[in-house]
Amino acid sequence: MGDGAAPVEDCELCEAARFTHWYYEDDVCWVADCEACDCPMVVWKLHGVAPDPADVDHMVARLSEAGVVRFGDGVDAFRIDRVMRQIPSHFHAHARDRAWSSRRWESRPSRYNGGVGGVRETL
Ligand SMILES: [Zn+2]
Ligand SMILES: [Zn+2]
Repeated sequence: MGDGAAPVEDCELCEAARFTHWYYEDDVCWVADCEACDCPMVVWKLHGVAPDPADVDHMVARLSEAGVVRFGDGVDAFRIDRVMRQIPSHFHAHARDRAWSSRRWESRPSRYNGGVGGVRETL
């Protein structure tokens, strides 16, 4: 399982609070809208920066599926952004559409619908 550790305190990604829409969850990761930027984000369930390559592939694939659900499957519909700006100590990645940086000030945030998958509801 790479270099991951059990959840640590004071890590927002370990906390995995359910406020926004959740697209997917399994033993390796979860995918939900990022609270900061409103883009789908995959988060490793262990705290660390170097999951096994197979787990990285798995997580990027699940994130891509969520990106298609959210933005469609057009060639330029979204891109995978693996830069970890705000929380560099915990592996995560975003699926960003072209308009994400302007959209986040306008679009209504999603909310947790009580489960994983299903209809994406906004506030
Ligand atoms: Zn963490
Ligand atoms: Zn974000």
